[in-house]
Formats: sequence, C-alpha cells, structure tokens
Amino acid sequence: MTDTKNTSQRKTDVLIIGGGPAGIQASRMLKTEHPEWDVTVLRPESYSMVYCAIPYALEGLISADKTFKKDDLLTEVGVNLLRLKAVKVKAEDHTVDLADGSSISYSKLFICVGATPVRLPVPGADLPNVYTVKTGEDMIRLMGCLNGGQDFCVSDSPDKVPEGLKAVVVGAGAIGLEQATAFRTRGAEVHLVEMQDRPLPLMLDGEMCSEMITKEILETGIHFHVGVSLKEMVGEEGCEAVVLSDGTRIDLDPCKDFVVLAAGMKPETGFLDLDLFDHRPDGLVVDKHMRTNVPDVWAAGDCTSFYSGIDGKPLGGKLATNAVPMAKVAAQDMMGIEASYPGFFNGAVTVMGHLRIGGTGFTESFARSRGIEVFSTTAELPTRFPMMPEKGFIRVRLLFEVESLRLVGAQMVGTDAVAERIDLLTLAIQHRLTAHDLTQLSYSAQPWQTFFPAKNVIVEAATAAVNSRR
Ligand SMILES: Cc1cc2nc3c(=O)[nH]c(=O)nc-3n(C[C@H](O)[C@H](O)[C@H](O)COP(=O)(O)OP(=O)(O)OC[C@H]3O[C@@H](n4cnc5c(N)ncnc54)[C@H](O)[C@@H]3O)c2cc1C
Repeated sequence: MTDTKNTSQRKTDVLIIGGGPAGIQASRMLKTEHPEWDVTVLRPESYSMVYCAIPYALEGLISADKTFKKDDLLTEVGVNLLRLKAVKVKAEDHTVDLADGSSISYSKLFICVGATPVRLPVPGADLPNVYTVKTGEDMIRLMGCLNGGQDFCVSDSPDKVPEGLKAVVVGAGAIGLEQATAFRTRGAEVHLVEMQDRPLPLMLDGEMCSEMITKEILETGIHFHVGVSLKEMVGEEGCEAVVLSDGTRIDLDPCKDFVVLAAGMKPETGFLDLDLFDHRPDGLVVDKHMRTNVPDVWAAGDCTSFYSGIDGKPLGGKLATNAVPMAKVAAQDMMGIEASYPGFFNGAVTVMGHLRIGGTGFTESFARSRGIEVFSTTAELPTRFPMMPEKGFIRVRLLFEVESLRLVGAQMVGTDAVAERIDLLTLAIQHRLTAHDLTQLSYSAQPWQTFFPAKNVIVEAATAAVNSRR
C-alpha cells in the first residue's frame, strides 16, 4: 500500500498511534523486517522525548535539547512520520480520523499513546503555576520558571535559580524524587510531599532502605513532608499556598514559585470509544501477544493494562522498560512471529544524592495485599575489597514466599551496580528461583568491582533466608 500524503484519505499497512518508546520500537522492527510494508507513525509533538533524562535537563546537568530524540530514528528506516493527533478510531472501517480533518485507513493498527500525569482531585489543581511533567513543553515551561521567567536557549546548561525561588513537589516516587533533587541542585527551596510513610513507596518498604533514603533527602536540604497528603492549593490567579493534611501551610509567590504534581499517570485513551475496547482504569486490556479485543488492533506500553508475571493478576507497569519489550512482542505478532510477554516484574532504579536505589517484583506490603505471605532477609557488604580506595557499599533486602521460599521481590540501596543486581534478581523472580537456588549463585570477584570472593551480598541474604527456616 502507498501513503497518499496531503489527500484527505491516506492508506497505510500499519498505522502506529504514538511516537514514544513503544511506537519507535515497533515501527523500526516492522519496517526493517518488511521494507515493502508502508508503516506510518502518528505523533503530534515536535519531538519524541527521552523522558527519563528530563530531571537532568531541569538540573542543568545536560542541556534541554539532549532530551529530544531525532526523527531519523523513524525516517532512516523509511517509516512515515505524520505530526498529527488521532481523534477517533473507526475500527469497523479500519480508519482513523486525524486532528486536521483528514483520515487514514490501515490494515493493522497499533495503539501506543502512553499516559499523562494525573492532576489530583484537590482544590487549586488547575491553577496556572501548578504543573505536571511529561512532555517537552512541560520541561521548557519548568525551565522558564527555574530561570525566573527569563528567556533561555534549549542548548544552554542553565544556572542557579533566582534567590528565594520555592518549589513544591507532590509525590516521592522516582519521578517526584528526581525532580525535587533537580530543583534543589539548582538552588531552589524544595518541599517534597508524600502521603505514604516513606519515600519510593511502590519500590521499597523495608525500614533499612527507607530510613537511609529519607536521611539522604534531608541532607540535600529538601523539606520532606512524609505521611501527609495534599489538602488544597490556595489562590485565584496562581497558587499562593499549599496546604497539607497535617495543617502545614507552604506559602508561595504565585508570580515565580510553582508546584509539580508527580502522583501517578493515567492512560491517554480518551479519544477512543471505550465501549468498543476492553479496558480497566489503567488502560486497554491486551492479551500476551498485545492484541486488544478489537480485530487487527494491538496496543502496548503505558496506555495498556497488563498483569503481573508473579501472580498473574492485573498490575500497573508504566515504565519504558515494559513499553519497549511489549512493543517488540506486538510487532512480532503483527509479522506472524510467535511471541508473548511474560508479565510485569517492574524492575526499576533511581538515584537520590549519593545513593543508587532499586526495586523489583513485589514489596512486602504489596505481596500481602495480593494474599502472598512473605518474609524478608537483608545483607550488606562493601562493593570493593576493603584495602582498595573509593569504598562503596550495597544493602540488599530479599522477599521470599513463606511456603515455597520462592523469591518474589528485592530492594536495594548502595553506591554502585544496583541496576545490574536488580536485573539479575528480576531474572531470578521471572524464573521462579528460590532462596536455595540463590545460595548457589555462581558469582565473580575482583578488587575494584566486588567484595572478597568469600562473600556475595545476594548469597548472604539468601543463606539467611534458608537458615531462618531450618
Ligand atoms: C519524567 C519521567 C521520567 C521517567 N523515567 C523513567 C525511567 O527512568 N525508566 C523507565 O523505565 N521509565 C521512565 N519513565 C516512564 C516512561 O517514560 C514511559 O513508561 C514510556 O515513555 C512509555 O512509553 P509509551 O511508548 O508507552 O508511551 P509514551 O512515551 O507516553 O508515548 C506516547 C506517544 O503517543 C502520542 N500520543 C498520545 N495521544 C495521541 C493521539 N491521540 N494521537 C497521536 N499520538 C498520540 C504522544 O504524543 C507520545 O508521542 C519516565 C517518565 C517520565 C514522565
């Protein structure tokens, strides 16, 4: 099929709605494997973004333009890129209406429209200096605030914020924590608000990790309001004060200070006729091949609802590291290649000050909420031979199912190699390994990169689990 551009009725073999990680991954695979197919990506914004890098642009560590992906990623393999928004899917006609009044027909449709940050249902959430962060526009707007409203160039690395600038960040998940750190590094007075009793509540729940991160947050000079929720944002033309559930009032200058809501994401599926698509609050329901219930329509990434690889029940998983492999499965299925997605394990990592932090699988509280009885063990070791310079440490907490000793979760705080260990433990969870299996982990050792050959932190924690059950 050919793309008859600039007419009111275009045709394409595969239409991909969304140019995020899922859309880019699938379109490149399809076009590379099937150069004869016409593959079209709809993406309304000027750039696809490296969202994970936004906090580092806000911090001034990299210039803002480094977060923009080049369109070559799509065009170099022959994918058609249309900078247009889909406004309606007419699945019966295999047609999608576009924002410019035209439409495009498809043989196969892949929906990967992502998710948008939630505007909390509290008074004042729509005030002009209350922001959410997802798009390039959001980033540029915030950079303007941090620059005191002065013009700046996206290729510049910005400086300190104007004296006395205040920012309130609501939500101490990874995105909120990384943004709070960025604003604080730029010199702002930062208030971080978290309704749970600890930072990173979806990633960690062991005291040994949480206390260490809380200490690091406080040491950076961030005011951490933990265990309290956002009650209201007061003001008419702009937010003049943030009021918390414990009565704390954080006064703001509505002309320069700002609030960022980082308290969850919701699927961007409003343009779809949801009577047609099976869906749950967190997105379109897809099967293990990423097929929706509608013929010839696949979906993947943040706009979908999938299930846990641990217990097979529905689970959120709005991470690029889920979106990309899901998109691979969708593309393979569209090409007739057998592929299925094993479920979410949600291995994720972040940074707070000097600490590298990670979690995978279930937390203890979440496992219990799903009816899995768990117990935990911990271990801590240096990450170099003790006689070496540049000492580091790693703390590991492993969660095992009581009955089977199967690993169902892991949490980690340390100075190095957290992401690699989290990935290793995700693989262990994926393959249903037990504490006994982990005591037999065959590991490596070298003075710069590990502790002595006599001990490995994962083996230590697993051995503690086996010993505790003797
Ligand atoms: C600040 C920030 C930091 C993050 N850090 C990490 C991290 O460190 N690690 C990690 O794994 N994940 C991280 N994430 C999450 C990650 O970015 C998402 O999980 C990932 O982008 C999801 O990919 P996606 O392709 O499903 O959707 P998206 O990336 O959201 O892409 C959706 C695309 O669809 C387009 N679209 C939407 N509606 C329409 C429409 N009607 N018509 C046409 N196009 C449409 C959008 O414009 C966009 O291009 C972060 C997210 C944010 C916001």
